[in-house]
Amino acid sequence: MDEAAEIIARVADRIDNNGWSICPCGEEHGQSEAGQRVPDVMRDDAELIRKSRAKSAPP
Ligand SMILES: [Zn+2]
Repeated sequence: MDEAAEIIARVADRIDNNGWSICPCGEEHGQSEAGQRVPDVMRDDAELIRKSRAKSAPP
C-alpha cells in the first residue's frame, strides 16, 4: 500500500547499485560526493512516509 515509499526505496537502491549521479552532464565536478548522500536522504523520506501512513492507517 505504501507505493510512494516503495518507489523512493527502489530508486535509492538503484542509485546505490548504479552510482547514478545527480548531475547528468557526465563530468566530475564534486557532484558525486553529494550524490552519495541522495540514497540515504531518500530512505529517510521513505521511512517518514511509512511512519506517517502507519499512524493514520486504521487498525
Ligand atoms: Zn555536472
